[in-house]
Amino acid sequence: MVDLGKGLRNVISRITGAPYIDEKTVKDIVKELQRVLISSDVNVRLVKELSKRIQEKALDTKQLKGLTVREHVIKVVYDELAELLGERYEPRLKKQRIMLLGLYGSGKTTTVAKLAYYFKKKGLSTAMIACDVDRPAAYEQLEQLAKKINVPMYGIKGETDVEKIVKYALEKAREEVLILDSAGRNAFDDALINELRKIADAFKPDEKYLVISADIGQSAGKQAEEFNKAIGITGVIVTKIDGSAKGGGALSAVAATGVKVAFIGHGERIEDIEPFDSRRFVGRLLGFPDLEALIEKVKEVEKEVGPELTEEKLTLKTFYQQLKAAKKMGPLGKVLSMMGLHDLPKDAIEESEEKLKRYEAIINSMTEEERNDYVLVKKSRSRQERIARGAGVRVEEVRDLIKQFERTKKMLESVKKNRALRGRLGRMLKGGNLEGFNI
Ligand code: GDP
Ligand code: MG
Repeated sequence: MVDLGKGLRNVISRITGAPYIDEKTVKDIVKELQRVLISSDVNVRLVKELSKRIQEKALDTKQLKGLTVREHVIKVVYDELAELLGERYEPRLKKQRIMLLGLYGSGKTTTVAKLAYYFKKKGLSTAMIACDVDRPAAYEQLEQLAKKINVPMYGIKGETDVEKIVKYALEKAREEVLILDSAGRNAFDDALINELRKIADAFKPDEKYLVISADIGQSAGKQAEEFNKAIGITGVIVTKIDGSAKGGGALSAVAATGVKVAFIGHGERIEDIEPFDSRRFVGRLLGFPDLEALIEKVKEVEKEVGPELTEEKLTLKTFYQQLKAAKKMGPLGKVLSMMGLHDLPKDAIEESEEKLKRYEAIINSMTEEERNDYVLVKKSRSRQERIARGAGVRVEEVRDLIKQFERTKKMLESVKKNRALRGRLGRMLKGGNLEGFNI
């Protein structure tokens, strides 16, 4: 999901970085979004439907409700993404029987233990049932996990009759939540279905969760449908979301079938599982817990940076204010690069704190006239020397600042001439480096 997150963050920063939002901008954004989603294996038809809705809603300014156009467009994209990926699942926190099923290697056994740990943490007594009679050492694998999380496990080592095992386990177990591990196959087939039916008849589970690995992408939809038709599942658990770029495809495909995504597994550790909540999930992909936090951040930066940076308004002073704001936002400043911030050259934003302080000193020791017309400084060696002395810096640093400023100015000029270039610049300047926001 790392790639999907990065792609989506790029889309968001295109919205926040656009000079203004018009029909063309929205169309460009939607195109970018399509590219990102399709590369995450989201079904093309779903992507088309989503694009259409985003385009319509984003351009419908009657829906603004106190948001700026920019915030409104972010909200529309966010809401539609969440919608695409499914609903929020609330597991029942009471006595119940849960059966896990799925193909080989999908993550069933791991997930049995993760769920046992999850329910245990919620204060319910929990036990696991070893009913994978197919895979050698399946019993031992579960036994080991049981020890690790200190949860009882019921099973009959070496027994191949699933009904016998279930009967035995049900007689013995007194725990509130019973979670059963079953055998997989290489593919969906009759033998598997028959065995699962037998188990289900004996176990009478409240929940039958199909476990699917995220890396199968949109085929997850077909698999969910097949299993649902054959034995009726109550939800899907998508595992290995952490390691696959196709998680978006898997989640959206399952959601499209009408089967719920119940939990997601996002790591190898026992605690790496959570009930699925699409809004929270999208929030994390974007680097924010939720939409409110994202919009809050946009507002904050809007306030911080002031009016959008334009060529006309660009003076050494506004330039410095923007640099400072970008700096203050930390890595977020880079992510969001909002309200024209992205017009600043990347190396300018990345200047060290120390250098920024010196820039400030330099600007402070200029006259108002110089601040408003940098050419005065650029052309006069004696002004540069005076300013450097006043600021306690070397004269080269004064020239550095002027150079940085001039670069920004040039960029804005060419941008004004060429909006398409502006889009490219925006992307280039924002390109990736988003430490700490991986999911
Ligand atoms: P089963 O054959 O369906 O029982 O699958 P297992 O539970 O044995 O898991 C197969 C492999 O997938 C193991 O190496 C697990 O550690 C790994 N795995 C399961 N769930 C996750 C997950 O959410 N993230 C990651 N990264 N690995 C997982
Ligand atoms: Mg297994």
